[in-house]
Amino acid sequence: MPPPRIVRTVKALRSAVQKWRAAGESVALVPTMGALHDGHLTLVSLARRKADWAVVSIFVNPTQFGPTEDLSRYPRDEAGDARKLGAAGTDLIWAPAAEEMYPDGFATTIVPKGAALPLEGEFRPHHFAGVATVCTKLFSQVTPDAAIFGEKDYQQLCVIRQTVADLNLPVKIVAAPTSRDRDGLARSSRNAYLTADEREAAPALNRALKGIAAIAAKGGLINKAIDVATHDLLQAGFTKVDYLTVRDAETLAPFEAKAGRPGRVLGAAWLGTTRLIDNIAV
Ligand code: AMP
Repeated sequence: MPPPRIVRTVKALRSAVQKWRAAGESVALVPTMGALHDGHLTLVSLARRKADWAVVSIFVNPTQFGPTEDLSRYPRDEAGDARKLGAAGTDLIWAPAAEEMYPDGFATTIVPKGAALPLEGEFRPHHFAGVATVCTKLFSQVTPDAAIFGEKDYQQLCVIRQTVADLNLPVKIVAAPTSRDRDGLARSSRNAYLTADEREAAPALNRALKGIAAIAAKGGLINKAIDVATHDLLQAGFTKVDYLTVRDAETLAPFEAKAGRPGRVLGAAWLGTTRLIDNIAV
């Protein structure tokens, strides 16, 4: 399949989508930051099953990166992405420049609280304001019936659901399961930063989460399980653990086994200069 058409202005995007809408056809959006891997492509297949037309946005959103984060080194490969998206059956790529997304005078930010406050919210203070603002803009630009988000970024999925509910945005949020390499490592554009040794150590993060989930499922001592998992990660070659935690799967409040609600184990840890995150169900 040829690479799909790439549009770079809101005007061109709207005219493409309006044609579909006028014909009574539905649209699904997959927001991404590019450097696409097989995990992203599973979201595209889900989009194709959910709607008549699949739009993928590629935008490395500067406002969700902190001042010391990896914005300038974030991998970019638009031509490669377009080829993969063509093969996966994408109909349109929405790839605005930063000036199109945030023109001079841009002055409105959505600041989510609730699910956005703990975990990533503590380590990356402005991250979810950047995410909620750009996703709200993407929804208003593309006007999709559905938008697909990966469980890989579990807290992001919770924050987007919260934003959509709080602002009554007319879009259905669909979650896609985390796609993993054979050894359990969650696929991520940031895995490209890993050295060979770091790549070998990386699946320890998923193993650590599984260990904690097994104890939490049995009603065991979660804090002890977290201590053991932290030790195992450092032994495996991780250099710093930002958090390992068990949370309520919906609100991300601390998990209470007795409450009988679903739980989620979430973790973030560093391998040298690369920060990996992962999560699994209890
Ligand atoms: P990103 O480009 O990393 O911001 O990710 C774009 C979308 O793809 C987000 O909804 C991510 O949660 C999702 N995603 C990234 N990696 C994976 C993965 N390994 N499995 C499933 N979804 C993923």
